[in-house]
Amino acid sequence: MSANAADAADGRPEAGLPRLRVLLAAPRGFCAGVDRAVRVVEEALKRDGAPVYVRHEIVHNRVVVNGLAAQGAVFVEELDEVPPGVPVVFSAHGVAKSVPLAAAARGLTAFDATCPLVSKVHREAERHEAMGHHILMIGHAGHPEVEGTMGQVRLGAMTLVQSLAEAEAVAPPPGPLAFVTQTTLSVEDAAEIVAVLRRRFPGIEGPAKEDICYATTNRQAAVRAVAAEAGLVLVVGSANSSNTMRLCEVASRAGARAQLLEGPEALDLDVLEGETVIGITAGASAPESLVQGLLARLGEHYALDVQERRVTTEDLTFKLPVALSA
Ligand code: SF4
Repeated sequence: MSANAADAADGRPEAGLPRLRVLLAAPRGFCAGVDRAVRVVEEALKRDGAPVYVRHEIVHNRVVVNGLAAQGAVFVEELDEVPPGVPVVFSAHGVAKSVPLAAAARGLTAFDATCPLVSKVHREAERHEAMGHHILMIGHAGHPEVEGTMGQVRLGAMTLVQSLAEAEAVAPPPGPLAFVTQTTLSVEDAAEIVAVLRRRFPGIEGPAKEDICYATTNRQAAVRAVAAEAGLVLVVGSANSSNTMRLCEVASRAGARAQLLEGPEALDLDVLEGETVIGITAGASAPESLVQGLLARLGEHYALDVQERRVTTEDLTFKLPVALSA
């Protein structure tokens, strides 16, 4: 793809503007799980009218959350903040088993927007527990996906491993062992941690590949390709988005400076000083409108030569919950 975003942005001629080559990572932005989660909230609003409560940010992006709030979604952190008789949606990150049980006990109508690829990890954890395995969960403490996955099994059946150092030190109870992973980890970090666990515990069971999802894997490969050619990579997304932060790390490791941007207005033009080639990507929860807005903003100051670097194509979509798909 090639486009002159200076013209596209506001119709001004590019004459006199400094040139800037922009490499757009592809795939970038929304994944199938985020797309489904947003549609779950929209369809629940259509079906039942506002308000629809959503436990936790449906996906980790302010623009998405604010857009749904404007349509009547109300975001809360805990189920006891949901008033009686109001439908509630569980976010894409998944929830502990206790949450839908508590919603049912209160008679709430619940719609589950958990990404099917996170649900798959939940089922793996259940299976390992049923087989008597102690489970090591590779992930980041405090992330809602990790809390949801750890909440699939009884307390004490799973131990969190966050780093190589923790993989070296972890002391699980004697007996059979398995591992699962958060879906949005750095592919490289996870592989190193799994290698340590396999060395220390040769019989450990786990997925053939880590549980890192296709979207995380593809976006990391794309940003790596872009970072190899660019001095600076602008990563569009939110700081509480795990997969977005991993894109920053991957870009840095590939030799580029990485700058996280919540949106176009957050761009500090000083970071572009001295750059002639930059990359742009977006986390799986960041809408494409933010990338286009960033290009428009850049186009006010530079004559842009925009090229896409596509490492693979994606055509996955997920069905809505049955209650919302009629
Ligand atoms: S990043 Fe992966 S696991 Fe998370 S919502 Fe998207 S597809 Fe699902």
